[in-house]
Amino acid sequence: MASAKIYDVVVIGGGAAGLSAAVTLCRSLRSVLVIDAGEPRNGRSTGLHGFLSREGLPPAELLAAGRAEVRKHGGDILQGRAISARGEGGVFTTELQDGQSLRSRRLLIASGFEDELPEVPGIKERWGRDVLHCPYCHGWEIRHRAIGILATEPTAVHEALLFRQWSGNITLFQHLLEDLDAAEREQLEARSVRIAEGSVASLEIAGDALTGVRLTSGQVVACEYLVVSPTAKTESSLLQSLGLQQTGQAGQGRHVTTDAAGLTAVQGVWAAGNICDPTAQVIAAASAGVKAATAINADLVDEDTRRAVEVARRTAFPKAALS
Ligand SMILES: Cc1cc2nc3c(=O)[nH]c(=O)nc-3n(C[C@H](O)[C@H](O)[C@H](O)COP(=O)(O)OP(=O)(O)OC[C@H]3O[C@@H](n4cnc5c(N)ncnc54)[C@H](O)[C@@H]3O)c2cc1C
Repeated sequence: MASAKIYDVVVIGGGAAGLSAAVTLCRSLRSVLVIDAGEPRNGRSTGLHGFLSREGLPPAELLAAGRAEVRKHGGDILQGRAISARGEGGVFTTELQDGQSLRSRRLLIASGFEDELPEVPGIKERWGRDVLHCPYCHGWEIRHRAIGILATEPTAVHEALLFRQWSGNITLFQHLLEDLDAAEREQLEARSVRIAEGSVASLEIAGDALTGVRLTSGQVVACEYLVVSPTAKTESSLLQSLGLQQTGQAGQGRHVTTDAAGLTAVQGVWAAGNICDPTAQVIAAASAGVKAATAINADLVDEDTRRAVEVARRTAFPKAALS
């Protein structure tokens, strides 16, 4: 059932981007509703890194503090999943999975994406712990340790050379990668990166720690951390309902294109965070949320002013006619 209230802004997604935007909009005295499914990308991680002044903070604590700030400034937060949205006559209606629909003058999509992991037994269970993807999020924590790189695409060679910056003990698991060319082999050898040929069968776990990677040949190669390249899976039904296209390579890096302030190709719809910048870390996603919020507020100020002028002209007309 459609709610009678028309919010100034509905924010879809309550991660770093959505909550930062919501706080800025609430502090601009805008009425704001955040709809959040509660599954942030880094939800499996135990500590946040690279966010100035919040080193090691559990990601859930950052978001809890953000939700408290939104509420403190008068914003509403609703647990739920938006499945579609449409705009008509300057008002957007967002439909939720549970049948509710919410209305707003502007829409901000900050729904991030889901990481689809390679199909290797053990990877899903270890994700965010000793199966990782980003050197800037985790490199320091795993420095000088035995690190494996699972190759599922050609960029794995670059990943291996990148992680070499953090450890001298790197093994590239060739897995799905066709043969490496001579230049790649020369680079890997020069940087002392070992190559494990053949497909990976599973992970070896002892107690609560990764100890190695088992190849289909039966050989086990010791490693304490495994780097993978997940595929980005976005809420395509929601984006499609708004007529928003995704650009970039199929799978990894698919994203919504926006202008510098986060405005999408659809008037009245903004996007911020990983949904439009797949490599953004938490602090960058938060920053994009703030930037989009200021642009949305400016857009609403323009509309409020236009309407005020129309009203002023209508009410001024009879007076002018009388004089
Ligand atoms: C394992 C791991 C560890 C990481 N560690 C770090 C780190 O240490 N430091 C760092 O800076 N970055 C780290 N990152 C990256 C970080 O997760 C992202 O930068 C950040 O989550 C992006 O924020 P966001 O707000 O765009 O998206 P998210 O944080 O993913 O938030 C999106 C929110 O929208 C919700 N949502 C999705 N679809 C809908 C819908 N249809 N309706 C309603 N809600 C919806 C989701 O459930 C989620 O709550 C890590 C990532 C991973 C995968």
